[in-house]
Amino acid sequence: MSAPEHNKPSVGKITVIHGPMFSGKTEELLRRVRRAKIARRKVQLFKPAIDNRYHATQVLPHFLAHAGDESMQVGEAAHVVSHPREIAALLKAETDVAAIEEAQFLDGSLFELVRRFSRQGVDVILSLLDQDYRRLPFPIAGSVSNVGDYLAIAHESLKLAAICVVCGQDAHHSQKLTLSSIDREGKPIYKPASFFTEVVTVGTSQELTQNKLFADKPLDFPESIYEARCRFCHVVADEPQ
Ligand code: ADP
Ligand code: ZN
Repeated sequence: MSAPEHNKPSVGKITVIHGPMFSGKTEELLRRVRRAKIARRKVQLFKPAIDNRYHATQVLPHFLAHAGDESMQVGEAAHVVSHPREIAALLKAETDVAAIEEAQFLDGSLFELVRRFSRQGVDVILSLLDQDYRRLPFPIAGSVSNVGDYLAIAHESLKLAAICVVCGQDAHHSQKLTLSSIDREGKPIYKPASFFTEVVTVGTSQELTQNKLFADKPLDFPESIYEARCRFCHVVADEPQ
């Protein structure tokens, strides 16, 4: 009997990890990347240039944003890309797994690239913000209409929940808050964003995180911040009924 084969050939499996902001999509993606490496598979990690929240070339989960200790080796080196064609150009012939972080921020041509990688036997793992702040499927520019198309072609999908910062229940939605005024003590007052404000998509840029609120320049408050909320605590101002 021959010895068990250690390096199994890749099968072109498409995995989608999705949910709201702060639900642990990055943590789960990095967990899978590490397991693939333990299995001695060649992994390449990609992230969109727009997602420059904490570190330019590393993918770090949200909890480290507060830690401020970048010496901790929990992140993974990533190729920062602006367009799916860069992923195609950077992919090495020997790569078994392509992991793509925050895939909703890449142009819809990623869809055909994912299908191509799968045909070629490269496993693909995507992390995806599945809804915008209006609770609608996250819109994507280009050949696909929204992130739902990636879910449709996935061989495995994993929906994650965050914790609602208002009531502590499971949170499936990302609450957008916009700066409304500054109070007498200089503290910012944020209100639920209107249905008609901009959705941060491909080609738009805005600060994406609640953590910016604690940035070093206390008076320079971001125009909008985001937090995780459950269906009951999630509010969209001016939402058409
Ligand atoms: P995602 O990629 O889905 O935005 P991350 O993997 O970057 O999420 O971060 C998940 C981590 O963020 C959690 O393990 C937790 O430490 C932290 N976190 C901060 N706010 C929340 C929240 N409201 N609900 C759950 N986790 C949160
Ligand atoms: Zn709630």
